[in-house]
Amino acid sequence: MNDALSTATDEPILADCSIHLVGPSEPVTGRVVGSASCMKGKSASFVRHVSIDVSGTPLEGRFRAGQSFGVVPPGVDEKGRPHKLRLYSLASPSFGEDGAGRVISTTPKRLIAERSPQRTGDDPSDHRLFVGVCSNHLCDLRPGDEVRLTGPSGKRFLLPADPSRHDYLFLSTGTGIAPFRGMALELLRHPSGPCRSRVELLMGSPYASDLLYDDLLRGLAREHPNFAYHPVISRERREDGGPGEYVHQFLERRLDRFREMLESPRTLIYVCGLAGMQTGLFRLLGRIGLADRYLRIAEEIAGVDPAQWTDEQIHRRVRHGPRCMMEVY
Ligand code: FAD
Ligand code: NAP
Repeated sequence: MNDALSTATDEPILADCSIHLVGPSEPVTGRVVGSASCMKGKSASFVRHVSIDVSGTPLEGRFRAGQSFGVVPPGVDEKGRPHKLRLYSLASPSFGEDGAGRVISTTPKRLIAERSPQRTGDDPSDHRLFVGVCSNHLCDLRPGDEVRLTGPSGKRFLLPADPSRHDYLFLSTGTGIAPFRGMALELLRHPSGPCRSRVELLMGSPYASDLLYDDLLRGLAREHPNFAYHPVISRERREDGGPGEYVHQFLERRLDRFREMLESPRTLIYVCGLAGMQTGLFRLLGRIGLADRYLRIAEEIAGVDPAQWTDEQIHRRVRHGPRCMMEVY
């Protein structure tokens, strides 16, 4: 056990942050300064890295990695009401893309699909193209264009006030990588010097071509021996010939690497991406005897073997504790 490990407290004291400085009734105007695909290869999906200058607005310098902001798309909905804001995760560190907190960024994925019934009464034979309003607005913007913003949002999915007191296991799927880009840059490229804590980032994607920020993350891993980046592909065979897998399955297969880290009181787990990710992780933590370190388990199932937890029990009776941060939807 090293010194830092023995002195670390289990529960993190999260960094202070501001929220709701700009509300939806009076969004401020930011200016797009960059927009580029952040995908590794050609894919049926389209995800961009969009950078926005917020200087001169109350948002300047006020974001923390892990928070989100609102985008208010122009125009009106089918009922003639102004479009509501949509939230997007900050992909930048607290010091911004520019080092001064003036330029923030995010990772919008174009929502494009064939229409399918969403509510009772929807016509099941309607399969016309469905184009999401705000994700496509954001992805269409070009440098120089204005965009209406609110925020910041979120006060739980944050790094600790003193990041050196903890190690970090980041689990993401798809655009859930956004906050971890910001957090990894915050930890490793902070103007006051890199954090030496262990940081392990797992990124789940359907195909290798769908990986996001792959070059940046590989570069960070080359520069910083305390940072490891693990792409986890679900629909392609692994290099060792094994089947594709999800992030929690990767974690379980590589417990030789991760068990000690999971057992350490320094470790914090952050999860961002698809709703449903937590089920696999919670069950795994239960199976390997570490549920009480990261989860809150209701008394009703305290006597049930975690390997036998049903999806419903997990949904209703298991909550993440202070060492496990969740941002899934
Ligand atoms: P909308 O026009 O709002 O359409 C979506 C809605 O349309 C759905 O709610 C559903 O009811 C309906 N719908 C969906 N598919 C179909 C279909 N096939 N047929 C008919 N109806 C359909 N997104 C990102 O891309 N990147 C991020 O970093 C990100 N961060 C987020 C952070 C938070 C905290 C939250 C809550 C959300 C985040 N999102 C992110 C999601 C984002 O807020 C939007 O929900 C997403 O971009 C879709 O918005 P849209 O306006 O394009 O789609
Ligand atoms: P995507 O590219 O489709 O990748 C998702 C990956 O996760 C796929 O490899 C998928 O595998 C896998 N997967 C499916 N079910 C899983 C499960 N139960 N556990 C673990 N992995 C699973 O992702 P995307 O379209 O970008 O979607 C990302 C999700 O994150 C969206 O729901 C988005 O709204 C959400 N998100 C949330 C936040 C936030 O809350 N702050 C921020 C950004 C994004 P298969 O498809 O092969 O089954």
